[in-house]
Amino acid sequence: MNREDFSILKEQVHGRPLVYLDNAATSQKPQQVLDAIIDAYTHWNSNIHRGVHHLSQVATMHHEEARKAVAAFINAQSSDEIIFTKGTTDSLNALAFSFGEACIHEGDEIIVSGLEHHSNIVPWQMLCERKKAVLKPIPLHEDLSIDLAAFKHLLSTRTKLVSIAHVSNVLGTIQPIEEIIRLAHEQHIPVCIDGAQSVPHLRVDVQSLDCDFLAFSGHKMYGPTGIGVLYGKREWLEKLPPHEGGGEMINHVRWSGTTYNELPYKFEAGTPNFIGSYALQKAVEYMQSIGLEAIENHERELTAYCEAQLQTVEGVQIYAPKQPKAGVISFNIYNAQTLIHPFDIGTLLDQQGIAVRTGHHCAEPLIDTMGVPGTVRVSFGLYNDKNDVDTFIAALQKAIQILK
Ligand code: PMP
Repeated sequence: MNREDFSILKEQVHGRPLVYLDNAATSQKPQQVLDAIIDAYTHWNSNIHRGVHHLSQVATMHHEEARKAVAAFINAQSSDEIIFTKGTTDSLNALAFSFGEACIHEGDEIIVSGLEHHSNIVPWQMLCERKKAVLKPIPLHEDLSIDLAAFKHLLSTRTKLVSIAHVSNVLGTIQPIEEIIRLAHEQHIPVCIDGAQSVPHLRVDVQSLDCDFLAFSGHKMYGPTGIGVLYGKREWLEKLPPHEGGGEMINHVRWSGTTYNELPYKFEAGTPNFIGSYALQKAVEYMQSIGLEAIENHERELTAYCEAQLQTVEGVQIYAPKQPKAGVISFNIYNAQTLIHPFDIGTLLDQQGIAVRTGHHCAEPLIDTMGVPGTVRVSFGLYNDKNDVDTFIAALQKAIQILK
């Protein structure tokens, strides 16, 4: 799909045509996004919000238009609910600090799942340490799906927040977040969704999901690095204190004290990444021009095709096979009973021009549960096709022959 918009896909790696299957780590950028960045710096770069002069007003207009575009993309009720951050990690840290200050006290509990990325574990651990609160992971079934019965048991009057990945960055599995949100809300507990791996691949509608917070990164959805989003329901964002102080987030500063700005500026201290927000808008428009359903269908088909092809490889173990997935597959290769180290597979694939990721994928608790040193992960973007899969499978067979 639309490969011609991504010049980087024409690169050679070690003398071979690049096959880029590391989209869960970061996606490539279409020409439309690259052009937008050049255009912004060439024609209207200027600091936003403070200037009476023309360029500043143009830059401000673009930043606020981007906010509206992102709000519409995830169907937020208002663009005031969109806070621009550096990315998912930054969004989750901001929330952990702010929510923690306002709502977490000694003995309170926060629930995550057993398959979270470190970004959705460590900020909550740090908060729990600060506040003497307790972080509780939902256990997983043997097939690595979330144990919903155990989740129900974890929920109590002590639970103050549930924070959960929509799509696992290791397994690609789509989590039952609708059910998790419903169960938490029955007990008036807010839910934060880590959308880093879902927003680039699935239609995410915050109003129909009814999630309280959503975090995601621009660079995984064809936008630039250094820009991301924290969505929060207005009633929550109004209640929460700012997580950082500085310019822009204030109303008035006096020696006697400071009053804070209105939403969303209260949470955007300092000069925001206004070039990034503009480029993110272009990425959103790019995805919309193809259609979220078309992207989702294409990637689902490709994932199923790749999983079927992988099943034919001798000694393969695919993790969470056949569960609904969004563009990610993790596997290992065994030679008789012995695991071939994923790093060795990754290195030999790289020599053949294939970019995959190996290791713990920043989800060590999940990898520990799986009882392996890591996995090989292939992950798709809208521009990947069956040729990429065929090239990858042939290269994998070659790697296995060498390593056996
Ligand atoms: N959560 C998940 C599920 C992820 O896959 C990632 C990125 N690998 C993150 C959080 C962190 O995203 P970022 O590095 O863009 O902040």
